[in-house]
Amino acid sequence: MQNSLWLKDVEIPTFSTLSNSLDCDVCIVGGGLSGIYTAYLLAKKGMKVVLLEAKPAFAIGTTGHSTGKLTPQHGVVYSKLLKYFSAEDVFTYYEANRNAIESALQVASEDSFERVDSYLYATTIPGKQTIEKELYAYNELNIPGVETTETELPFDVTSALKMEDTAQIHPTKFATHFLKLAIDNEAAVYTNSRVTKVEIDEKFVLTDNDSKVTFKKLVLCTHYPIESIKGLITTKLSIDRSYLLASETTELLKGQYLSVEESSRTIRTASIGGTPYFIYGGKSHIAGEVEDTQSYYESLKEEMVETFNLPEPPFLWSAQDPNTPDLVPYIGQISEDTPDLYIATGYRKWGLSNSLVAGEILSSLITHESHKATHLYSPTRDQFGKNFLRGLSTIGFVTANLAEGYLTRMEAPKCTHLGCKTRWNDGDETWDCPCHGSRFDKDGNVIEGPAVYPLKLKK
Ligand SMILES: Cc1cc2nc3c(=O)[nH]c(=O)nc-3n(C[C@H](O)[C@H](O)[C@H](O)COP(=O)(O)OP(=O)(O)OC[C@H]3O[C@@H](n4cnc5c(N)ncnc54)[C@H](O)[C@@H]3O)c2cc1C
Repeated sequence: MQNSLWLKDVEIPTFSTLSNSLDCDVCIVGGGLSGIYTAYLLAKKGMKVVLLEAKPAFAIGTTGHSTGKLTPQHGVVYSKLLKYFSAEDVFTYYEANRNAIESALQVASEDSFERVDSYLYATTIPGKQTIEKELYAYNELNIPGVETTETELPFDVTSALKMEDTAQIHPTKFATHFLKLAIDNEAAVYTNSRVTKVEIDEKFVLTDNDSKVTFKKLVLCTHYPIESIKGLITTKLSIDRSYLLASETTELLKGQYLSVEESSRTIRTASIGGTPYFIYGGKSHIAGEVEDTQSYYESLKEEMVETFNLPEPPFLWSAQDPNTPDLVPYIGQISEDTPDLYIATGYRKWGLSNSLVAGEILSSLITHESHKATHLYSPTRDQFGKNFLRGLSTIGFVTANLAEGYLTRMEAPKCTHLGCKTRWNDGDETWDCPCHGSRFDKDGNVIEGPAVYPLKLKK
Protein backbone atom coordinates (compact mmCIF):
# COMPACT_ATOMS: atom_id res chain seq x y z
CA MET A 1 0.00 0.00 0.00
CA GLN A 2 2.43 2.70 1.31
CA ASN A 3 2.21 5.47 -1.27
CA SER A 4 3.07 8.72 0.48
CA LEU A 5 2.17 12.02 -1.17
CA TRP A 6 5.54 13.37 0.05
CA LEU A 7 7.42 10.95 -2.18
CA LYS A 8 5.56 12.01 -5.34
CA ASP A 9 7.81 13.71 -7.90
CA VAL A 10 10.48 14.70 -5.37
CA GLU A 11 14.06 14.62 -6.40
CA ILE A 12 15.65 12.53 -3.70
CA PRO A 13 19.43 12.71 -4.05
CA THR A 14 21.37 9.45 -3.95
CA PHE A 15 24.58 8.89 -2.01
CA SER A 16 27.13 6.14 -1.76
CA THR A 17 27.23 3.30 0.74
CA LEU A 18 29.95 3.58 3.37
CA SER A 19 32.65 1.12 2.32
CA ASN A 20 35.74 2.23 4.23
CA SER A 21 36.72 3.21 7.77
CA LEU A 22 36.22 6.77 8.99
CA ASP A 23 36.98 8.89 12.07
CA CYS A 24 34.75 11.75 13.10
CA ASP A 25 33.78 14.03 15.96
CA VAL A 26 30.12 13.05 15.81
CA CYS A 27 28.55 10.03 14.16
CA ILE A 28 24.80 10.38 13.67
CA VAL A 29 22.80 7.23 12.94
CA GLY A 30 19.49 7.79 11.13
CA GLY A 31 18.72 10.22 8.32
CA GLY A 32 15.20 11.42 9.10
CA LEU A 33 14.56 15.04 10.09
CA SER A 34 16.17 14.54 13.54
CA GLY A 35 19.44 13.17 12.19
CA ILE A 36 19.58 15.59 9.28
CA TYR A 37 18.89 18.74 11.32
CA THR A 38 21.35 17.66 14.04
CA ALA A 39 23.98 16.99 11.36
CA TYR A 40 23.34 20.41 9.82
CA LEU A 41 23.67 22.32 13.11
CA LEU A 42 26.79 20.42 14.21
CA ALA A 43 28.49 20.70 10.81
CA LYS A 44 27.72 24.44 10.79
CA LYS A 45 29.52 24.68 14.14
CA GLY A 46 32.62 23.15 12.54
CA MET A 47 32.27 19.58 13.87
CA LYS A 48 33.38 16.70 11.67
CA VAL A 49 30.08 14.86 11.18
CA VAL A 50 29.25 11.48 9.62
CA LEU A 51 25.54 10.74 8.98
CA LEU A 52 24.57 7.12 8.28
CA GLU A 53 21.20 6.09 6.85
CA ALA A 54 20.03 2.49 6.42
CA LYS A 55 17.57 3.14 3.59
CA PRO A 56 18.51 3.99 -0.02
CA ALA A 57 17.55 7.66 0.58
CA PHE A 58 17.21 10.22 3.35
CA ALA A 59 13.92 11.39 4.89
CA ILE A 60 11.83 8.53 3.51
CA GLY A 61 11.14 6.95 6.92
CA THR A 62 8.60 8.41 9.34
CA THR A 63 9.51 11.95 8.26
CA GLY A 64 8.43 11.19 4.68
CA HIS A 65 5.24 9.50 5.94
CA SER A 66 4.03 12.20 8.33
CA THR A 67 1.30 14.83 7.90
CA GLY A 68 3.81 17.65 7.67
CA LYS A 69 2.36 20.02 10.27
CA LEU A 70 5.09 22.19 11.77
CA THR A 71 3.46 23.76 14.78
CA PRO A 72 3.77 23.99 18.56
CA GLN A 73 0.07 23.05 18.77
CA HIS A 74 0.74 19.38 19.50
CA GLY A 75 -2.85 18.25 19.90
CA VAL A 76 -4.31 18.68 23.37
CA VAL A 77 -1.00 18.80 25.19
CA TYR A 78 -0.53 21.84 27.39
CA SER A 79 -3.35 20.99 29.82
CA LYS A 80 -1.94 17.45 30.07
CA LEU A 81 1.70 18.51 30.49
CA LEU A 82 0.66 20.65 33.46
CA LYS A 83 -0.14 17.40 35.29
CA TYR A 84 3.49 16.32 35.04
CA PHE A 85 5.59 19.48 34.91
CA SER A 86 5.72 22.97 36.40
CA ALA A 87 4.10 25.83 34.47
CA GLU A 88 7.58 27.15 33.72
CA ASP A 89 8.65 23.85 32.16
CA VAL A 90 5.45 23.54 30.16
CA PHE A 91 5.99 27.02 28.76
CA THR A 92 9.58 25.98 27.96
CA TYR A 93 8.15 23.11 25.87
CA TYR A 94 6.04 25.58 23.88
CA GLU A 95 8.84 28.12 23.57
CA ALA A 96 11.45 25.51 22.52
CA ASN A 97 9.18 24.30 19.70
CA ARG A 98 8.09 27.79 18.63
CA ASN A 99 11.69 29.08 18.55
CA ALA A 100 13.09 26.00 16.80
CA ILE A 101 10.40 26.30 14.10
CA GLU A 102 11.09 30.00 13.56
CA SER A 103 14.88 29.48 13.37
CA ALA A 104 14.50 26.66 10.85
CA LEU A 105 12.00 28.56 8.69
CA GLN A 106 14.49 31.39 8.29
CA VAL A 107 16.79 29.06 6.35
CA ALA A 108 14.26 26.55 4.94
CA SER A 109 13.73 26.49 1.18
CA GLU A 110 10.73 28.62 0.22
CA ASP A 111 9.02 25.84 -1.71
CA SER A 112 9.04 23.52 1.33
CA PHE A 113 6.66 25.35 3.70
CA GLU A 114 3.61 27.62 4.02
CA ARG A 115 2.38 29.70 6.91
CA VAL A 116 -1.04 28.52 8.14
CA ASP A 117 -3.03 28.64 11.35
CA SER A 118 -3.38 25.47 13.44
CA TYR A 119 -6.74 24.46 14.87
CA LEU A 120 -7.93 21.93 17.39
CA TYR A 121 -11.63 21.31 16.82
CA ALA A 122 -14.48 19.50 18.53
CA THR A 123 -17.82 18.27 17.22
CA THR A 124 -19.25 17.12 20.55
CA ILE A 125 -19.97 18.69 23.94
CA PRO A 126 -17.26 16.64 25.73
CA GLY A 127 -14.87 17.73 22.96
CA LYS A 128 -15.85 21.37 23.57
CA GLN A 129 -15.01 20.88 27.26
CA THR A 130 -11.60 19.45 26.32
CA ILE A 131 -10.94 22.56 24.23
CA GLU A 132 -12.01 24.81 27.10
CA LYS A 133 -9.51 23.06 29.40
CA GLU A 134 -6.75 23.43 26.83
CA LEU A 135 -7.61 27.11 26.32
CA TYR A 136 -7.45 27.60 30.09
CA ALA A 137 -3.90 26.14 30.01
CA TYR A 138 -2.97 28.44 27.10
CA ASN A 139 -4.20 31.44 29.11
CA GLU A 140 -2.41 30.33 32.29
CA LEU A 141 0.84 29.87 30.35
CA ASN A 142 0.51 32.92 28.10
CA ILE A 143 0.44 30.77 24.97
CA PRO A 144 -1.36 32.66 22.19
CA GLY A 145 -4.64 31.02 21.13
CA VAL A 146 -8.27 31.96 20.58
CA GLU A 147 -11.50 30.00 20.83
CA THR A 148 -13.77 30.15 17.78
CA THR A 149 -16.51 28.28 15.96
CA GLU A 150 -15.49 29.65 12.55
CA THR A 151 -13.55 27.11 10.50
CA GLU A 152 -13.25 26.12 6.83
CA LEU A 153 -14.62 22.63 7.59
CA PRO A 154 -17.84 21.51 5.83
CA PHE A 155 -19.57 20.70 9.16
CA ASP A 156 -20.37 22.56 12.38
CA VAL A 157 -17.92 22.44 15.23
CA THR A 158 -18.88 22.88 18.87
CA SER A 159 -15.61 24.70 19.47
CA ALA A 160 -12.15 25.22 17.98
CA LEU A 161 -8.88 26.52 19.39
CA LYS A 162 -6.85 28.50 16.89
CA MET A 163 -3.09 29.08 17.12
CA GLU A 164 -2.11 31.65 14.52
CA ASP A 165 0.87 31.85 12.22
CA THR A 166 2.19 28.30 12.48
CA ALA A 167 3.47 26.33 9.47
CA GLN A 168 3.03 23.24 7.36
CA ILE A 169 5.82 21.65 5.36
CA HIS A 170 6.51 19.31 2.52
CA PRO A 171 8.52 17.07 4.85
CA THR A 172 10.85 15.40 2.33
CA LYS A 173 11.65 18.71 0.55
CA PHE A 174 12.11 20.43 3.90
CA ALA A 175 14.47 17.75 5.23
CA THR A 176 16.51 17.33 2.04
CA HIS A 177 17.16 21.08 1.95
CA PHE A 178 18.80 20.82 5.40
CA LEU A 179 20.68 17.76 4.19
CA LYS A 180 22.16 19.88 1.38
CA LEU A 181 23.11 22.55 3.92
CA ALA A 182 24.78 19.89 6.11
CA ILE A 183 26.77 18.68 3.09
CA ASP A 184 27.70 22.29 2.21
CA ASN A 185 29.12 22.44 5.74
CA GLU A 186 31.16 19.29 5.03
CA ALA A 187 29.08 16.62 6.73
CA ALA A 188 29.83 13.21 5.17
CA VAL A 189 26.58 11.39 4.43
CA TYR A 190 25.92 7.77 3.39
CA THR A 191 22.83 5.81 2.42
CA ASN A 192 22.32 2.01 2.35
CA SER A 193 24.54 2.00 5.45
CA ARG A 194 22.68 0.31 8.29
CA VAL A 195 24.43 0.36 11.64
CA THR A 196 24.32 -3.16 13.06
CA LYS A 197 26.76 -2.83 15.94
CA VAL A 198 27.50 -0.11 18.46
CA GLU A 199 30.62 -0.36 20.63
CA ILE A 200 30.12 2.39 23.14
CA ASP A 201 33.25 1.80 25.24
CA GLU A 202 35.55 1.51 22.25
CA LYS A 203 33.68 4.28 20.42
CA PHE A 204 32.92 2.82 17.05
CA VAL A 205 29.96 1.58 15.04
CA LEU A 206 29.92 -1.04 12.31
CA THR A 207 27.59 -1.00 9.35
CA ASP A 208 26.09 -4.07 7.69
CA ASN A 209 29.10 -4.43 5.36
CA ASP A 210 31.47 -4.16 8.36
CA SER A 211 32.58 -0.61 7.58
CA LYS A 212 33.70 1.14 10.75
CA VAL A 213 33.09 4.69 11.97
CA THR A 214 35.08 5.77 15.01
CA PHE A 215 33.53 8.66 16.90
CA LYS A 216 33.99 10.96 19.87
CA LYS A 217 30.21 11.32 20.25
CA LEU A 218 27.42 9.13 18.92
CA VAL A 219 23.87 10.36 18.26
CA LEU A 220 21.09 7.84 17.67
CA CYS A 221 18.32 9.36 15.57
CA THR A 222 16.98 6.01 14.42
CA HIS A 223 13.41 6.91 15.44
CA TYR A 224 13.27 3.97 17.85
CA PRO A 225 16.53 3.16 19.67
CA ILE A 226 18.28 0.41 17.75
CA GLU A 227 18.93 -3.06 19.01
CA SER A 228 22.46 -2.51 20.15
CA ILE A 229 21.32 -0.54 23.16
CA LYS A 230 18.41 -2.76 24.12
CA GLY A 231 17.44 -2.59 27.74
CA LEU A 232 18.44 1.02 28.20
CA ILE A 233 15.25 2.63 27.03
CA THR A 234 13.02 0.13 25.28
CA THR A 235 10.58 -0.40 28.11
CA LYS A 236 9.80 3.30 28.39
CA LEU A 237 8.21 3.63 24.94
CA SER A 238 4.90 2.52 23.48
CA ILE A 239 4.13 3.01 19.78
CA ASP A 240 1.05 4.25 17.89
CA ARG A 241 0.38 3.75 14.20
CA SER A 242 -1.97 5.98 12.11
CA TYR A 243 -3.22 6.19 8.54
CA LEU A 244 -3.19 9.02 5.99
CA LEU A 245 -4.87 9.54 2.60
CA ALA A 246 -4.61 12.26 -0.05
CA SER A 247 -6.95 13.18 -2.92
CA GLU A 248 -6.89 15.99 -5.43
CA THR A 249 -9.08 18.89 -4.33
CA THR A 250 -10.13 22.25 -5.70
CA GLU A 251 -8.78 24.74 -3.20
CA LEU A 252 -6.21 25.04 -0.48
CA LEU A 253 -7.21 25.58 3.16
CA LYS A 254 -5.76 28.43 5.20
CA GLY A 255 -5.70 26.27 8.32
CA GLN A 256 -4.64 22.78 9.41
CA TYR A 257 -6.97 20.88 11.70
CA LEU A 258 -6.97 18.16 14.35
CA SER A 259 -10.04 16.90 16.16
CA VAL A 260 -9.86 16.41 19.91
CA GLU A 261 -12.33 13.55 20.21
CA GLU A 262 -10.97 10.15 21.18
CA SER A 263 -10.49 8.80 17.66
CA SER A 264 -9.00 11.98 16.28
CA ARG A 265 -8.83 13.09 12.64
CA THR A 266 -6.18 15.26 11.02
CA ILE A 267 -6.80 17.55 8.05
CA ARG A 268 -4.63 19.79 5.89
CA THR A 269 -4.07 20.63 2.23
CA ALA A 270 -0.87 20.86 0.19
CA SER A 271 0.05 22.06 -3.26
CA ILE A 272 2.15 19.46 -5.08
CA GLY A 273 3.48 20.64 -8.44
CA GLY A 274 0.68 23.24 -8.57
CA THR A 275 -2.08 20.68 -7.87
CA PRO A 276 -4.00 21.11 -4.59
CA TYR A 277 -4.32 17.94 -2.45
CA PHE A 278 -6.52 17.29 0.56
CA ILE A 279 -4.88 15.17 3.27
CA TYR A 280 -6.99 13.27 5.78
CA GLY A 281 -5.88 10.88 8.49
CA GLY A 282 -6.36 9.23 11.86
CA LYS A 283 -7.56 5.85 13.18
CA SER A 284 -4.60 5.16 15.48
CA HIS A 285 -3.86 1.82 17.08
CA ILE A 286 -0.94 0.33 18.94
CA ALA A 287 1.68 -0.61 16.34
CA GLY A 288 1.70 -4.26 15.40
CA GLU A 289 -1.60 -5.03 17.16
CA VAL A 290 -3.82 -5.01 14.08
CA GLU A 291 -3.61 -7.52 11.24
CA ASP A 292 -6.49 -6.24 9.11
CA THR A 293 -5.01 -2.78 8.48
CA GLN A 294 -6.67 -2.73 5.05
CA SER A 295 -9.99 -2.07 6.80
CA TYR A 296 -8.46 1.01 8.46
CA TYR A 297 -7.62 2.46 5.06
CA GLU A 298 -11.04 1.51 3.68
CA SER A 299 -13.13 3.10 6.44
CA LEU A 300 -11.03 6.25 6.47
CA LYS A 301 -11.36 6.45 2.67
CA GLU A 302 -15.14 6.16 2.84
CA GLU A 303 -15.34 8.83 5.53
CA MET A 304 -13.11 11.22 3.57
CA VAL A 305 -14.89 10.80 0.22
CA GLU A 306 -18.35 11.28 1.81
CA THR A 307 -17.63 14.08 4.27
CA PHE A 308 -15.52 16.22 1.99
CA ASN A 309 -17.03 15.22 -1.37
CA LEU A 310 -13.66 14.18 -2.79
CA PRO A 311 -12.55 11.61 -5.39
CA GLU A 312 -11.04 8.26 -4.27
CA PRO A 313 -7.60 8.97 -2.82
CA PRO A 314 -4.68 7.68 -4.92
CA PHE A 315 -2.26 8.25 -2.03
CA LEU A 316 -2.53 6.04 1.06
CA TRP A 317 0.18 5.65 3.66
CA SER A 318 0.71 4.94 7.33
CA ALA A 319 3.40 5.45 9.93
CA GLN A 320 4.09 5.02 13.61
CA ASP A 321 5.76 7.01 16.37
CA PRO A 322 6.85 6.15 19.90
CA ASN A 323 5.29 7.82 22.97
CA THR A 324 6.93 8.53 26.31
CA PRO A 325 4.98 8.17 29.55
CA ASP A 326 5.04 11.92 30.34
CA LEU A 327 4.47 13.11 26.74
CA VAL A 328 7.86 14.86 26.37
CA PRO A 329 10.37 13.22 24.00
CA TYR A 330 13.70 11.85 25.18
CA ILE A 331 16.42 14.07 23.74
CA GLY A 332 19.93 14.15 25.16
CA GLN A 333 22.44 11.88 26.87
CA ILE A 334 20.81 8.52 27.17
CA SER A 335 22.22 7.80 30.61
CA GLU A 336 24.83 9.15 32.97
CA ASP A 337 26.90 5.97 32.46
CA THR A 338 27.19 6.61 28.71
CA PRO A 339 28.12 10.31 28.46
CA ASP A 340 29.10 10.13 24.77
CA LEU A 341 25.85 8.52 23.63
CA TYR A 342 22.89 10.75 22.74
CA ILE A 343 19.38 9.95 21.61
CA ALA A 344 16.30 11.63 20.15
CA THR A 345 13.05 9.66 20.25
CA GLY A 346 9.52 9.47 21.69
CA TYR A 347 7.95 12.22 19.59
CA ARG A 348 4.28 11.18 19.98
CA LYS A 349 3.52 12.14 16.36
CA TRP A 350 4.85 15.66 16.92
CA GLY A 351 8.38 14.90 15.83
CA LEU A 352 8.75 17.45 13.07
CA SER A 353 9.07 20.48 15.34
CA ASN A 354 10.56 18.27 18.07
CA SER A 355 13.24 17.08 15.58
CA LEU A 356 14.27 20.71 15.25
CA VAL A 357 14.34 21.01 19.05
CA ALA A 358 16.42 17.79 19.09
CA GLY A 359 18.94 19.30 16.68
CA GLU A 360 19.25 22.39 18.87
CA ILE A 361 19.54 20.50 22.19
CA LEU A 362 21.94 17.84 20.90
CA SER A 363 24.19 20.28 19.09
CA SER A 364 24.39 22.54 22.15
CA LEU A 365 25.11 19.60 24.49
CA ILE A 366 27.89 18.36 22.20
CA THR A 367 29.47 21.80 21.83
CA HIS A 368 29.04 22.59 25.56
CA GLU A 369 26.54 25.38 25.05
CA SER A 370 23.36 25.78 27.05
CA HIS A 371 19.80 25.26 25.82
CA LYS A 372 16.87 26.18 28.01
CA ALA A 373 14.96 22.95 27.36
CA THR A 374 17.80 20.44 27.99
CA HIS A 375 16.62 19.37 31.45
CA LEU A 376 13.00 19.05 30.34
CA TYR A 377 13.79 16.68 27.45
CA SER A 378 16.57 14.78 29.23
CA PRO A 379 16.13 10.97 28.91
CA THR A 380 17.40 10.72 32.48
CA ARG A 381 14.73 13.01 33.95
CA ASP A 382 13.10 11.47 36.99
CA GLN A 383 9.52 12.13 35.98
CA PHE A 384 9.16 8.49 35.08
CA GLY A 385 9.15 7.60 38.76
CA LYS A 386 6.43 10.17 39.45
CA ASN A 387 4.31 8.77 36.65
CA PHE A 388 4.86 5.24 37.80
CA LEU A 389 1.34 3.99 37.18
CA ARG A 390 1.24 5.38 33.70
CA GLY A 391 4.68 4.00 33.02
CA LEU A 392 3.67 0.60 34.30
CA SER A 393 0.96 0.29 31.71
CA THR A 394 3.52 0.93 28.99
CA ILE A 395 5.90 -1.65 30.42
CA GLY A 396 3.01 -4.01 31.04
CA PHE A 397 2.06 -3.86 27.40
CA VAL A 398 5.53 -4.67 26.21
CA THR A 399 6.06 -7.49 28.67
CA ALA A 400 2.65 -9.03 28.02
CA ASN A 401 3.24 -9.08 24.31
CA LEU A 402 6.66 -10.62 24.69
CA ALA A 403 5.10 -13.48 26.60
CA GLU A 404 2.11 -13.77 24.32
CA GLY A 405 4.41 -13.74 21.34
CA TYR A 406 6.31 -16.75 22.53
CA LEU A 407 3.24 -18.65 23.59
CA THR A 408 0.52 -18.14 21.06
CA ARG A 409 1.69 -16.92 17.69
CA MET A 410 3.94 -19.76 16.68
CA GLU A 411 3.23 -19.44 12.96
CA ALA A 412 4.54 -15.87 12.61
CA PRO A 413 8.29 -15.24 12.38
CA LYS A 414 10.05 -13.99 15.50
CA CYS A 415 11.26 -10.40 15.52
CA THR A 416 15.05 -10.29 15.40
CA HIS A 417 15.09 -7.57 18.08
CA LEU A 418 13.94 -9.31 21.26
CA GLY A 419 12.17 -12.37 19.88
CA CYS A 420 8.48 -11.33 19.99
CA LYS A 421 6.21 -12.98 17.44
CA THR A 422 5.48 -10.57 14.60
CA ARG A 423 2.02 -10.11 13.05
CA TRP A 424 1.13 -10.00 9.38
CA ASN A 425 -0.19 -6.56 8.34
CA ASP A 426 -2.40 -7.16 5.32
CA GLY A 427 -2.82 -3.50 4.29
CA ASP A 428 0.88 -2.74 3.98
CA GLU A 429 2.02 -6.36 3.42
CA THR A 430 4.53 -6.22 6.25
CA TRP A 431 5.44 -8.22 9.34
CA ASP A 432 4.95 -5.88 12.35
CA CYS A 433 6.27 -6.47 15.84
CA PRO A 434 3.81 -5.48 18.58
CA CYS A 435 6.53 -5.18 21.25
CA HIS A 436 8.83 -2.40 20.05
CA GLY A 437 7.45 -1.54 16.60
CA SER A 438 10.02 -3.16 14.28
CA ARG A 439 8.63 -3.75 10.78
CA PHE A 440 9.78 -6.08 8.01
CA ASP A 441 8.75 -6.37 4.37
CA LYS A 442 7.10 -9.53 3.08
CA ASP A 443 10.52 -11.04 2.38
CA GLY A 444 11.67 -10.28 5.92
CA ASN A 445 13.93 -7.27 5.22
CA VAL A 446 13.98 -4.60 7.94
CA ILE A 447 11.82 -1.55 7.12
CA GLU A 448 11.91 0.00 10.56
CA GLY A 449 13.93 -0.68 13.76
CA PRO A 450 14.78 -1.24 16.54
CA ALA A 451 15.58 -4.55 14.79
CA VAL A 452 18.61 -4.43 12.54
CA TYR A 453 18.62 -8.00 11.15
CA PRO A 454 16.12 -9.54 8.66
CA LEU A 455 13.49 -12.09 9.71
CA LYS A 456 14.18 -15.74 9.22
CA LEU A 457 11.21 -16.76 7.08
CA LYS A 458 10.36 -20.39 6.48
CA LYS A 459 10.52 -21.21 2.77
C1 LIG B 1 1.05 9.19 10.86
C2 LIG B 1 2.00 10.19 11.43
C3 LIG B 1 1.83 11.54 11.15
C4 LIG B 1 2.71 12.47 11.69
N1 LIG B 1 2.51 13.79 11.43
C5 LIG B 1 3.28 14.70 12.05
C6 LIG B 1 3.03 16.09 11.89
O1 LIG B 1 2.15 16.51 11.15
N2 LIG B 1 3.79 16.96 12.58
C7 LIG B 1 4.78 16.55 13.42
O2 LIG B 1 5.43 17.39 14.06
N3 LIG B 1 5.07 15.24 13.56
C8 LIG B 1 4.35 14.32 12.89
N4 LIG B 1 4.62 13.00 13.05
C9 LIG B 1 5.81 12.60 13.78
C10 LIG B 1 7.05 12.75 12.93
O3 LIG B 1 6.78 12.37 11.61
C11 LIG B 1 8.18 11.87 13.48
O4 LIG B 1 8.24 11.96 14.86
C12 LIG B 1 9.50 12.33 12.90
O5 LIG B 1 9.43 12.33 11.49
C13 LIG B 1 10.60 11.42 13.39
O6 LIG B 1 11.78 11.83 12.74
P1 LIG B 1 13.06 10.95 12.96
O7 LIG B 1 14.15 11.58 12.20
O8 LIG B 1 13.27 10.75 14.42
O9 LIG B 1 12.65 9.51 12.40
P2 LIG B 1 12.61 8.97 10.88
O10 LIG B 1 12.12 9.99 9.95
O11 LIG B 1 11.89 7.67 10.93
O12 LIG B 1 14.13 8.71 10.58
C14 LIG B 1 14.86 7.69 11.24
C15 LIG B 1 15.82 7.13 10.22
O13 LIG B 1 16.72 6.25 10.87
C16 LIG B 1 17.03 5.22 9.96
N5 LIG B 1 17.57 4.08 10.71
C17 LIG B 1 16.91 3.25 11.56
N6 LIG B 1 17.74 2.32 12.05
C18 LIG B 1 18.95 2.55 11.48
C19 LIG B 1 20.23 1.90 11.57
N7 LIG B 1 20.39 0.83 12.34
N8 LIG B 1 21.25 2.41 10.85
C20 LIG B 1 21.10 3.51 10.04
N9 LIG B 1 19.90 4.16 9.91
C21 LIG B 1 18.85 3.68 10.62
C22 LIG B 1 15.69 4.91 9.29
O14 LIG B 1 15.86 4.24 8.08
C23 LIG B 1 15.10 6.30 9.15
O15 LIG B 1 15.35 6.86 7.88
C24 LIG B 1 3.77 12.05 12.51
C25 LIG B 1 3.95 10.71 12.79
C26 LIG B 1 3.08 9.78 12.26
C27 LIG B 1 3.27 8.36 12.61
